[in-house]
Amino acid sequence: MPAELIDGRAIAKKVRAEVAERARKLVARGVRPGLAVVMVGDDPASAVYTTAKAKAAEEAGMYSLNVRLPADTSQADLLSRVDALNTDPKIHGILIQMPLPAQIDPDTVIRRINPAKDVDGFHPVNVGKMLIGERDGFISCTPAGIQVLLKESGVKTPGKNCVVIGRSNIVGKPMAALMMQNNENANCTVTVCHRHTADLKSHTRAADILIVAAGRARIVTADMVKPGAVVIDVGTNRVADARSKSGTKLVGDVDFESVREVASKITPVPGGVGPMTIAMLMSNTVRAAEMTLR
Ligand code: NAP
Repeated sequence: MPAELIDGRAIAKKVRAEVAERARKLVARGVRPGLAVVMVGDDPASAVYTTAKAKAAEEAGMYSLNVRLPADTSQADLLSRVDALNTDPKIHGILIQMPLPAQIDPDTVIRRINPAKDVDGFHPVNVGKMLIGERDGFISCTPAGIQVLLKESGVKTPGKNCVVIGRSNIVGKPMAALMMQNNENANCTVTVCHRHTADLKSHTRAADILIVAAGRARIVTADMVKPGAVVIDVGTNRVADARSKSGTKLVGDVDFESVREVASKITPVPGGVGPMTIAMLMSNTVRAAEMTLR
């Protein structure tokens, strides 16, 4: 029997409805949650992402500030924009769209954001809080969204072997750290794989929950998956497709058609992890605003 689809769009819609309700309550108390999305340069893909984030914020009843800066903006200028947003009372969340132009060091910019407004969860203070299990920080949106996907699809995680492919700071590492935490939505035994992993298949075959964030089209095939495993595909890869109008299509890191015959549950691409990332950004922003009232 083919795997059950984990419907990221439906789960994200539910999260966003909850966020909108929390935003309404905040507005009633005189606080409109505000999200600033800062983009430097005119990369078309980044423009699509920033517009989608601003639109989602508006749909949730939040104040949305879209800051577009020219590609030759200096690091000093960007840092002073971040400083201004850090002290702007209308702004509760700040997001710097990556990648930044070569003259700007992303780590320096991330460290400049007030951790209480770092709704992307990339500031070292928030990364550290997540790692030690403190709950008052922000967790980066993609791993946080995956945890919600698992919970909402009824996947019981305690005691399971969770294998994560990828160790980036934005997906793989925080994902692994979350799944090993001591709580009912985690408590997994976690293995992290990367390009130096010997015999990748021996690890993936042992996974009850397989989370793939490698950025390589369809590298996970059916023979690499344990029958009945839950498979979460984070990858977004554009590949040639003669049948589509644009000549390309979006595929994940998992060979969906073959793996769905083996797995028990699987996320599609698109429509799986992607919608959750924006939903969790909204959730973090509303929480940042709620925290100002405490
Ligand atoms: P990244 O920074 O390029 O990291 C990729 C990781 O995968 C690295 O740790 C790399 O290992 C590992 N890797 C690559 N090829 C591998 C292989 N053949 N076998 C084992 N490990 C391998 O990418 P990322 O930012 O984490 O993103 C991963 C994917 O998720 C991308 O397709 C990205 O577009 C997508 N993504 C989607 C969302 C969403 O919302 N849907 C959000 C974020 C990212 P090394 O460390 O050894 O190089």
